[in-house]
Amino acid sequence: MSKFNTIDSLDVKGKTVFVRADLNVPLDDNLNVTSTTRIDRTAPTIQALLKKGAKVLVSSHLGRPKGEKNAKYSLKPVIEPMKKALGGSVNVTLAPDCIGEEVEEMVKNLKEGSVLVLENLRFYAEEEKNDADFAKKLAKLADIYVNDAFSSAHRAHASTEGMAKLLPNAAGLLMQEELEALDAALGTPKRPVAALVGGAKVSTKLDLLGNLVSKVDVLVIGGGMANTFLYAKGVNVGASLCEKEMADTAKEIIKKAEVAKCEIVLPTDVVVASEFADNAPNKVVGVNDVPSDMMILDVGPESAKVLAEKLSSCKTLVWNGPLGAFEKKPFDAATNLVAKAAAKLTKEGKLLTVAGGGDTVSALNCAGVKSDFSYISTAGGAFLEWMEGKELPGVVALYH
Ligand code: AMP
Repeated sequence: MSKFNTIDSLDVKGKTVFVRADLNVPLDDNLNVTSTTRIDRTAPTIQALLKKGAKVLVSSHLGRPKGEKNAKYSLKPVIEPMKKALGGSVNVTLAPDCIGEEVEEMVKNLKEGSVLVLENLRFYAEEEKNDADFAKKLAKLADIYVNDAFSSAHRAHASTEGMAKLLPNAAGLLMQEELEALDAALGTPKRPVAALVGGAKVSTKLDLLGNLVSKVDVLVIGGGMANTFLYAKGVNVGASLCEKEMADTAKEIIKKAEVAKCEIVLPTDVVVASEFADNAPNKVVGVNDVPSDMMILDVGPESAKVLAEKLSSCKTLVWNGPLGAFEKKPFDAATNLVAKAAAKLTKEGKLLTVAGGGDTVSALNCAGVKSDFSYISTAGGAFLEWMEGKELPGVVALYH
């Protein structure tokens, strides 16, 4: 699926390459980076370009400075972790801005094998407006554009979309890895393909469910959103989180699935409790026996076992959202059990597993399987939009 150029195909010797990365890292009150994952995952792209003799500009947004320069949102905290991620011997400096004469001069003096990190792109409102002049000013700094920020690709911004049209372009290694994993999961998957969608609400994942029923063979619905589907089927869900006003929509999705011959799997037993709290007294009941004053906080053990078994007859799994209120123990049990079963099948080479979006990564982390899945996306919103079947502007701009 070579719809886009890759770094391998680029001749970058002596050239200046603009890498749009996602360095939107979490910071503590003292502006120290609390997780270097995003820096570490884009480092191989920078390293590959340096090895080929490029001068590398790295750019990103950080937080929401709302178009104004603000030291709180400076990319300064990423410099040391980036040096470390690049092995310690690469010269990494921070520019005082992302456009302008001073930056142009710094770029001119940049040596082969060195990295210049540009200051926060969102210090300019033009970035998010995909302003053509701003894109031109960024493009002026480099000979080649590389996009390594899949997690920002759902936004048509100057640095993710506008610039790609102005320079020879390519996908970075992380972007390439994401796109290949996502294609293997939903583009041209090995069948049967299952999707597991959990999380709190149907209303936030409507487009996603609608798209999935026409693409996958099995759609497992868990988490709070399963309650809405159970309610739509006439089940009394007691005091559970349930979007009653979405019942008709849930029915439409069930109908659409029937037409598309997609099997929808809902829990048959559930774990109920009287409060949403750690170690809240709880019990397992059949879905038709939920007490009116209790709420469903997890898929039951029997349903989780059936789910795990179902996965063994599938070849591909795409996962978004926890099966239960996983932050509160023991309501992480079903998520853990199914995640471990999926990880085991992955390790045995029987199942390709791709997961991503919001709480999913932390739920899989808690289950201890993060490194056993075939691919875990770094993206939140972009992963969801991709699951919804939307074209991501930052990706489309790289297609030739
Ligand atoms: P989302 O961001 O949509 O993936 O939702 C994740 C959230 O859904 C987590 O905070 C879970 O605690 C919550 N969740 C999952 N299952 C339930 C449930 N049965 N009742 C209430 N909240 C749930």
